[in-house]
Amino acid sequence: MKNKGILIIVSGFSGAGKGTVMKKLMSDYDNYALSISATTRGPRTGEQDGREYFFKTVEDFEAMIANDQLIEYAQYVGNYYGTPKAYVEQMLNDGKDVILEIEMQGAMKVKEKMPETLLVFVTPPTAAELKNRLVGRGTEDMATIAARLKRASEETVYMDKYDYLLINDDLDECVKELHGIIQAEHSKVSRNINKINFFREDAKIFSEGE
Ligand code: 5GP
Repeated sequence: MKNKGILIIVSGFSGAGKGTVMKKLMSDYDNYALSISATTRGPRTGEQDGREYFFKTVEDFEAMIANDQLIEYAQYVGNYYGTPKAYVEQMLNDGKDVILEIEMQGAMKVKEKMPETLLVFVTPPTAAELKNRLVGRGTEDMATIAARLKRASEETVYMDKYDYLLINDDLDECVKELHGIIQAEHSKVSRNINKINFFREDAKIFSEGE
């Protein structure tokens, strides 16, 4: 009686370290599948098509929208980003917990469509630390960094729409905590109605005095 997997959204400001947290979570534990998004932004040095993202032209991306191939999509600092539907559905049906690392507008759309989604928000301890990390990783020019910081400041309004807040100070701790949150979620009564019904049926024999 295997349950379906849990759909988990991990969001956070650009530079919060979500990518690093995801990589470690995937390498430390078995039952997770990380969804690979489609985007129209260009690959960063070291990024590979089909590994970090499916890199698309605007035309191809808009065709995916038109053909209903995305669970959600959003525009972020001048580019489209979206979650391909087929992989996520297949993994959930296989009992895998599927993680979407997506920004907040997309997260809100998924929550509306699928209210049982678990929403986790990752943030560095302070705004200054956010800027340090974004500058330190050296993958964006200063104008893009400024646009992303501005966006982060706007995005703070979404923080209390999430189910859990995860402060990414120490990477190991953060990954353990995230895993713990997801494991606890598996024990929620609302996710175990089948097992409860099974037990109720099973226990009926006692009502006849056995
Ligand atoms: P980056 O360009 O830094 O890889 O990603 C920019 C933002 O887009 C991040 O907040 C990231 O989580 C978000 N993002 C990545 N993929 C998706 C997606 O499929 N849908 C949405 N809505 N956001 C995404």
